[in-house]
Amino acid sequence: MHRLQPKCSLILLLWLSWFSSPLWSQGAKEHADLIVTGGSVIAMDAARTVYNDGAVLIKGDQIVAVGPRSALESRYEATQTLNATGQLVLPGFINGHTHVPMTLFRGLHDDVTLNDWLYKYIFPAEARNVNEEFVRWGTRLGLAEQIRSGVTTFADMYYFEDAIAEESKAAGVRGVLGETLLDFPAPDNKSEAEMLAYTEKFLQRWRNDPLIHAAVAPHSIYTCSRKTLTDGAALARKYQAPILIHTAEMKKEWEDSNAKNSMSPVQYLDRIGLLGPDVVSAHCIYVDAQDQKTLAERKVGCVHNPSSNMMIASGVSPVPEMRAAGVAVGLGTDGPAGSNNDLDIMEEMDLAAKLAKITRMNPLALGAKDVMAMATIEGARALHLDKQIGSLEPGKKADLVLLSLDQPNSVPMYDVYAQIVYASKASDITTVMVGGRTVMQNRKLLTVDEPAAIAKAREYKTKIAASLGMQ
Ligand SMILES: [Zn+2]
Repeated sequence: MHRLQPKCSLILLLWLSWFSSPLWSQGAKEHADLIVTGGSVIAMDAARTVYNDGAVLIKGDQIVAVGPRSALESRYEATQTLNATGQLVLPGFINGHTHVPMTLFRGLHDDVTLNDWLYKYIFPAEARNVNEEFVRWGTRLGLAEQIRSGVTTFADMYYFEDAIAEESKAAGVRGVLGETLLDFPAPDNKSEAEMLAYTEKFLQRWRNDPLIHAAVAPHSIYTCSRKTLTDGAALARKYQAPILIHTAEMKKEWEDSNAKNSMSPVQYLDRIGLLGPDVVSAHCIYVDAQDQKTLAERKVGCVHNPSSNMMIASGVSPVPEMRAAGVAVGLGTDGPAGSNNDLDIMEEMDLAAKLAKITRMNPLALGAKDVMAMATIEGARALHLDKQIGSLEPGKKADLVLLSLDQPNSVPMYDVYAQIVYASKASDITTVMVGGRTVMQNRKLLTVDEPAAIAKAREYKTKIAASLGMQ
């Protein structure tokens, strides 16, 4: 056996003491691509931690560390720095329900009932105007608007959803995107068989994409037969894809279901096997205690759309009761035509709290911290994506927003959640990042040609108005 020579032993000793010395550990900082530093980090983790002088370390598309700035700066060295001094660093907001290309129908016909709006105006306007080009321009406009309001993930139900996926991917925005199934001809597919074939190709194409979650979106129980609903669910489940559906969104839907099926819309969806931990139900207004229990047991995510519900006077979703029953409730803008009419998720936070308060005549009904959760971590749970997004924690996707506090409406600040929900505006958002890629910096959009989208929207207005005989 070889014995160490005294000279060798000395080298070994020096070598060992170097690697255990503080000098070495300082020199061997861990590497990250980007540090977001100097702001107050609102983590939205389980403990709702706030780091007043915090930092977020990002590597690739993921967060690798979150914590106090000094601790993280001594542990990491990053290639790039994003200075967030004087700003809040928040998880990106989640718009849990919308129909994004409908930006081009914004303001077309308002102040009518949902039934009239759908059947008299929107379905005919869609039949005459919606093609792939329309969808692409409407999506670009809607992406610009959503990025400006801090949305990093949105759930969408429309037609030509493959084009929406391409535009979202190009803009670097995360999407849960569902091709709509209906019992009448849609602008893209004219029969159930065509719709299912298109959807299957769509699901195959985007499988395992890091940004796009392709989904199946049977529109509702009032526009889809039992067969369309169950065929759509079976296709989604074949590909482990989410199912997006409007659920119990208007009184007429509940009355018709009660007359036809002798049960509520939620009980009917459960009876036909549609409900499960892959379902995202938009609205959930007409849901009684039994329905809420069913939604919780089946782990269905719900999405509350306060602007839309108020504008169409659909009713008030029992949000505090659903959350107490254990249902994950996210927030959505719905719309953006006829039922909002914008994609400002910060406005929905403010309205969700105030709508719950006024309808119960109780200012404690739903608070700022709760609605902030609904727009972030609980919204992620509602979309069944909470392992990936919704909070600033190691291992999650680097989706975040910087919100300026250097505004007249943002000072002074006593409570950070109340400030975000009741005082801050989307226009206070300066920078937005999705999966480590900056899509807006200092209010400048980096991935969407905003002037082109705005100019095109004006062109479309003339065309659409003419198609409906309006001037
Ligand atoms: Zn909707």
